[in-house]
Amino acid sequence: MEGCIFCKIVAGEIPSTKVYEDELVLAFMDIAPINHGHVLVIPKEHHTGSSSIPEDVAGRMFHVAARLGVAAKRELDYDGFNLHFADGASAGQVVMHAHLHMVPRGVEDGFHWNWRQLGYADGEAAGIAAKLAARLKL
Ligand code: AMP
Ligand code: ZN
Repeated sequence: MEGCIFCKIVAGEIPSTKVYEDELVLAFMDIAPINHGHVLVIPKEHHTGSSSIPEDVAGRMFHVAARLGVAAKRELDYDGFNLHFADGASAGQVVMHAHLHMVPRGVEDGFHWNWRQLGYADGEAAGIAAKLAARLKL
């Protein structure tokens, strides 16, 4: 897609540090890592968000990211990893070409997700679950 920085990376028009590539996906080093070894896995085809990515491509993205997480634990001495996907600006998506982050994590790496924990009134979760289930399109 014209003007898309990650499409330009796929096309080799701007440089990246590649980690893995196949016919469906490309994995390359994030230019501003949360921790060293932070990798982005993208579909080679342009998709803005997650919902239009075909299942085989989405599956490959997840599989490659998870195996890279294992590689980060074994080769770079991390303890774990986060897989993170921001879909939409409100979710923190800055680059509008879908991408899955693999962020390697250490027990004392000093990084914390700002994760809050709300609650539900009685029956509220079930009502919301029913709405989601009714609208789910697979
Ligand atoms: P997000 O907030 O999920 O859209 O994250 C976009 C990510 O892309 C950020 O972590 C950036 O550091 C990364 N990024 C942006 N431009 C480049 C680039 N040219 N090469 C590698 N990573 C990039
Ligand atoms: Zn693109």
